Amino acid sequence: MNLQNIKGIGEKTLESLYESNIYNLEELLTYFPYRYQILEPSSLENTNKDETLTINATVTDIGKVTFIRKNLNTYRFKVTAYGKFINVTIFNRAFIKPHITLNKEITLIGKYDTKKNLFTASDIKLSKIEGTKIIPIYHLIKGIKNNTLVKLISEALKEASLIYDYVPDECNQKYKLCSKKDALSFIHQPNTQTEINLAKRKLIYEELFIFMFKIQYLKSLKEKEVGLERKFDITKIESFINSLPFNLTKDQSNAVKEGLNDLLSKKRMNRLLLGDVGSGKTIVATILIYANFLAGYQSAFMAPTEILALQHYNSIRDLLKNTNLHIEYLVGSMTKKEKEKVAEGVKKGDIDILIGTHAILSEKLYFKNLGFIVTDEQHRFGVNQRDILTQKGTLPDMLFMSATPIPRTYALTIYGDMDTSIIKEKPNGRKEIITKVVKEKDLKEVLFKVLEAVKKNEQVYVVAPMIEEQEESNLKDVNLLNEKFEIAFHNKIPIGILHGKLKKTEKEQVMNDFKLGKTKILISTTVVEVGVDVKNATVMIIFNAERFGLATLHQLRGRVGRNDLQSYCYLICNEEKERLKVLEESNDGFYISEKDFEFRGEGDLFGIKQSGDMTFKIANLKRDYNILIHAKEDVIEFIKSKKYLKEEKYQKIVDKLDFTN
Ligand code: ADP
Ligand code: MG
Repeated sequence: MNLQNIKGIGEKTLESLYESNIYNLEELLTYFPYRYQILEPSSLENTNKDETLTINATVTDIGKVTFIRKNLNTYRFKVTAYGKFINVTIFNRAFIKPHITLNKEITLIGKYDTKKNLFTASDIKLSKIEGTKIIPIYHLIKGIKNNTLVKLISEALKEASLIYDYVPDECNQKYKLCSKKDALSFIHQPNTQTEINLAKRKLIYEELFIFMFKIQYLKSLKEKEVGLERKFDITKIESFINSLPFNLTKDQSNAVKEGLNDLLSKKRMNRLLLGDVGSGKTIVATILIYANFLAGYQSAFMAPTEILALQHYNSIRDLLKNTNLHIEYLVGSMTKKEKEKVAEGVKKGDIDILIGTHAILSEKLYFKNLGFIVTDEQHRFGVNQRDILTQKGTLPDMLFMSATPIPRTYALTIYGDMDTSIIKEKPNGRKEIITKVVKEKDLKEVLFKVLEAVKKNEQVYVVAPMIEEQEESNLKDVNLLNEKFEIAFHNKIPIGILHGKLKKTEKEQVMNDFKLGKTKILISTTVVEVGVDVKNATVMIIFNAERFGLATLHQLRGRVGRNDLQSYCYLICNEEKERLKVLEESNDGFYISEKDFEFRGEGDLFGIKQSGDMTFKIANLKRDYNILIHAKEDVIEFIKSKKYLKEEKYQKIVDKLDFTN
C-alpha cells in the first residue's frame, strides 16, 4: 500500500518520510517509538519542586503571552486544580494560547513550586487524562511533529493486517508470541506496560529471525558454490615458508593449512581470518596468495585506507622478494594514466597481485584470471564486491581478515555464513605492552618517557582524535600537539605529522620518513589506526582516550610492541574513565572486546552500524543475545524445511539480498 493513500499524508509529509527512508506502509509501521511518555495524574502535595508532575486542571483565566525577544516568549495563565488556584507559566508556546479557553479541562506536565504557587509547564495536553495514558515518542522526522506522527501511524494501523508476519506459525506458537497486527498496535498505541512488553517480545524476535534468515540463506547458497580447483606444488610453498625470517606460530600454521585446503578444494573459499592486531595475519594471506599464483591465478588484496594499502604493498613485496611475482597497487588518488597502466597489466595478466583500497571495486578492472581476493580490516557488509566477483563467470576464493574488536561468540553468530580461522597466540618474544591511564595534567612523566625512548633511538606515535580545533575546545588537534611537543623538546626531536587532508604523496613521504627513522615522533589522527607497521616504535600516546572505544584503543596500541623491545602505551584523558582500566589490565583483544561490548553495546562493532545491514529497529544484539541464539536455531530448521520457497514474503527478502560476497 502506498503512503499517499493514508489519510493525512500530503506531498510535504511524504517528502519528509522519504527523507527518513520510509517509503511504504510497512516501513511506516515499523518506525517504532524509542520511548514512551507515561502520563498519570499525580497529586500536588508533598512534592519537591524538581519532580515532574502531571496534573489535570481547569482554565480559570486565559492569561497572556509576553514576547521577550526573538526566540523567547512566555505564556502565563491560571487554572484550578485540586481545589487550588494555580499560576501557570510555559515558555515558547504562544501558539497554544488560542486553545486555552475558559473552563477548558487540560493536563499540565511540569514542575510545581509550592512556595510561589507557580506551575512551570513543559508540556500541555488539551484534554483531561483518565487513568494512565501512554504516549509514544518517536525519533524526530524532520518536518513532522510527534503528535502528527502519532496520528499518521494511527491511520496506518487500520491497514496493519496487510503487513507480513515473518515469524513462522510454529515459532509463534513455541514462544507464545502475539500476532504481528497486535504487536504493531501495542507498540504504537499501548494501553499498558504489559502490552508494550508483548509487542517487544514479538518484534525483537521477528527482527532477529529475519536477520538470521538472511545470513543462513546466504550460507546455504555458499555451501553450493563451486570455486576454482587448483593444483600447486606444495613443496614450493614449504620452502617459501622456510625462507621466511621467522617461524610461523602454531595458529598461523593452522590458518595456512585451512586456507590451502580451501584453495585445493572445489568448494569456494569463504573464510574469515580472525586475529588480534600484530598476530600476523598478513603472512598467512601472503602464503595463500603465493599458492594461488603457483596455480596460475591472480590475486587482489584490499585494504581500508591508502596508507595501509601502500604498507601492505611494501611488506608483501618484501615477503615475496625471492619469488618472481609481479606486484602492483592501485589507489583512488593515482592519476588516470597510472590507473590505466595498472588496468592494462591486470587485464593482460602481467600483474599477479594487485593491492589497493576498496576503491579497486569502483574502477573498471578486468582481471585475466582472478582467483583469490583478500580483504583486510573491512567489515564484509556494505561493500559491493559484485562487480569484481562476477566479471569472469568464475568465483574467486575469498579471505576476509579482521582484528576482531568483536567478542568471539557474537562473531561466530554474525559470521555464521563463513568458515573461520582464528589466530590467538602472538609471535613469540613479544612483551606485553605496559599501559597506563594518565591525566592530562600529569603529561610530564609521559614526555619524559618519550625522551628516554628517543635517546634509545626508538620511536613514538602520538594520536590526536581530530584534524582541526573544532567547537569542542578540549580536543587536541594535530597542530596544537605538534607545537606542544616542539616546545617541550626545544625543537630538537624531528616530528612528522600525518592527517587525512594530506595528499597521497605527502602521506607517503611522512610515513616513509617515520619508517626510516628520519622522524622520531609521528603525530597523527586515527588514520594510523589499523595495520601500520613500524617495528622500532615503542611508545604510543593517545590523547582524549576517553573518546575512543576500547577496541579502537587496543587497535591503536597494537602499533607498538611489534618486536622484542618493551613498549608503552599512554592513554591521556581529562577525567578518569573506569573502562580505560581494562586496557591497563589486559593485552588480550578478545577479552577487551568482551569488555567493550559490556560497556558500550553493539554500537561499536566494526563500525557495522554505518553500513545499514546491522541497524536494528528494535533488537539489540547484546541485550537480546539469547533471543538471537534461539532465532538462529529456528532459522536453521526453517531453511531445512524449505518452507520459505513457497512463501512470497520470504522470497521478497531473498530477492532484496545484495550478494556482496
Ligand atoms: P596483523 O595481524 O595485525 O595484520 P601483521 O601481519 O602486520 O599483523 O604482523 C605483525 C608483525 O609481526 C609483522 O611485522 C610481521 O612481519 C611479524 N610476524 C608475523 N608473524 C610472525 C612470526 N611468526 N614470528 C615473528 N614475527 C612475525
Ligand atoms: Mg594487518
